Amino acid sequence: MGLIAELTHRCPLSCAYCSNPLELERASAELDTATWLDVLDQAAALGVLHVHFTGGEPMARKDLTQLVRRAAELQLYTNLITSGVLLDDRAMDALMAAGIDHIQLSLQDIEPEAGDRSGGLKGGHAKKLAAAERIRAAGLPLTLNFVIHRGNADRTAQMLDLGEALGATRIEIAHTQYYGWGLLNRAALLPTFAQLESATAAVEAARARFGARIAVDYVVPDYFAARPKACMGGWGRRFINVSPSGKALPCHAAETLPGFAFPSVREVSLADIWTGAEAFQRFRGVEGAPEACRSCERVEIDWGGCRCQAFALAGDATRIDPACALSPDHALMRQAIEAADFDAPLTPRLIRR
Ligand code: SF4
Ligand code: SF4
Repeated sequence: MGLIAELTHRCPLSCAYCSNPLELERASAELDTATWLDVLDQAAALGVLHVHFTGGEPMARKDLTQLVRRAAELQLYTNLITSGVLLDDRAMDALMAAGIDHIQLSLQDIEPEAGDRSGGLKGGHAKKLAAAERIRAAGLPLTLNFVIHRGNADRTAQMLDLGEALGATRIEIAHTQYYGWGLLNRAALLPTFAQLESATAAVEAARARFGARIAVDYVVPDYFAARPKACMGGWGRRFINVSPSGKALPCHAAETLPGFAFPSVREVSLADIWTGAEAFQRFRGVEGAPEACRSCERVEIDWGGCRCQAFALAGDATRIDPACALSPDHALMRQAIEAADFDAPLTPRLIRR
């Protein structure tokens, strides 16, 4: 269904909750334009419908509009996932001319001081507001994404108000997912249960108020859940994620798993990766779910949850996701909540150019 094109790990921001890997890939390791164009051609031939240009900050790539243009010519639905800080008038015009279909813009908070502090970029919040205006003025549908955590969850209602004021057609309120830098900073980012309840109430109130006018997506933290999410819609079922250096992954955290040889799009075709690569087959479908899940009535709903979370928390990717209350490792979630520390220092994501 979707190609997730992680064009670069470079980013002007340094969010402490970033889910990019701790080992960020350098610009010199990135795929060149010709290879990305070929990957897009292959994706269309394979029947992919959507391409999500993401990163890092995909607008840090000088060839972004060239890639968008090719994807649009191939009739792929093009979505740009961006921090917006590089989206000036010229860039907006170029993206429109190239045929961009949709932009998802991230905001860190509701006002400049907190937003700039969270993203680690002075003036970043104001640039994001200007980017939202440009997207709307261009007539594109605007999705706003707020990642929430202990430091900003109390402002969820105001985030939804801001999204409405900016003319968003979709607002995503996503609790931090604990991968990469987010996992490293988990102790300082996990919300309290009271914060989670109040954020959930704010989302429900906004949904009632907005009706069909604005869709509100809500991603809750696994750590408070009793059942896991169907990570990526199931391992190797809907998406191919291509990393900046060309590794094809079932999800962008999969590189953390040991014992995997992820094929490179420099050497193997997308079709062969999708149908034949061992890394895509390993956890695919009911047969690839943890053994205890295969007879569970929810197995075709959540596929046993997230393999990367099972590895990150329980040290074994073949175990049931600890987010599931039926997992013998479920207590790890409670322990992480209990170990949360409001005063823990945050490590902002390193920027390597
Ligand atoms: S989460 Fe922040 S640092 Fe990470 S890619 Fe997005 S904007 Fe950049
Ligand atoms: S046991 Fe497995 S399939 Fe059943 S709910 Fe838990 S994670 Fe999902």
